[in-house]
Amino acid sequence: MKISNIKIIEDNEKFVICTGDKKTGSHPKIYLNLQGEDSSIECYYCGKTFIHKSKYKKK
Ligand SMILES: [Zn+2]
Repeated sequence: MKISNIKIIEDNEKFVICTGDKKTGSHPKIYLNLQGEDSSIECYYCGKTFIHKSKYKKK
């Protein structure tokens, strides 16, 4: 588990698009829906975690 593989996003973002990156390699474009999630979601292809800015600061 790479703890550093976190992407901070704006609080008003309702979904994110992930296609991988240079480190993990690219994967098919997917949409990850943050609505109903606990302000964070993990990409099931590359394991990158997207987290809302406000939640990240609280930690
Ligand atoms: Zn991904």
